[in-house]
Amino acid sequence: MKDLMPVNGQFAMPVLSYDNLGDVISKETLSFHHGKHLKAYVDNLNKLLPESGLENLPLSEVIRKAEGGMFNNAGQVLNHAMYFEQFSNSPKPMSAKFASLLERDFGSVEAFKKEFEQKGTTLFGSGWVWLSANAGGKLVITQQKNAENPVTMGLTPLLTFDVWEHAYYLDYQNRRADHLAALWQIVDWAIVESRLC
Ligand code: MN
Repeated sequence: MKDLMPVNGQFAMPVLSYDNLGDVISKETLSFHHGKHLKAYVDNLNKLLPESGLENLPLSEVIRKAEGGMFNNAGQVLNHAMYFEQFSNSPKPMSAKFASLLERDFGSVEAFKKEFEQKGTTLFGSGWVWLSANAGGKLVITQQKNAENPVTMGLTPLLTFDVWEHAYYLDYQNRRADHLAALWQIVDWAIVESRLC
C-alpha cells in the first residue's frame, strides 16, 4: 500500500505528477486543495511530531498510534497523498485481473462503481469513501468520517474519493454525486492496483 516515510522526523509535501486534470477537477480546485488544504495538514503534522515519540515512524504507523490533532492531520496527509497520486490526465485502464476481483466481490465493475458513488454521496458531513482489501483479500467499500483511513481497521486501502466539500465545491457546488461520477475518468488503475500488495 501507499505509505510515507519521514526524513529527520518530518514529512515532505506530496508532489503532484500532473498540472491539470482536464475538466474533471479544475486547476483552481487543484491549487486550493493541494496547495492550501494539504499543505496545512502537512505543516500541522510536522509541528506536532517533534518529541511526540512518533516522529520516526511511517505515516500509517503514526495514524495507528496517534489521537486528537495528530491523528486528524496525519490521517489527512495520507488520505490526500493517496487521493492525488491515484489521478492522471492520461490514466491507465483497469486490468482484466482487477476487474475480475471487482466482479467476484461486487457482481460487476459497474455495480462496484455504483455502490462506491452511492456510499460517497450518502456519507453525512465530511469524510472519504474507500475501496480496500481485507486480510483475506476480499475487496470492501467503507465510509470513513473526517480524517479516518482504513489502515486503522486492518484494511489495505486501494482507492479513495474525498467527499469533503473543499474537494468539489468550487467546480460542482452542492452536486457531490455529479463530482463523484466524473472522477472515474481520471482514476489511474495502474496506481490503484499497485497498492494491492
Ligand atoms: Mn481534501
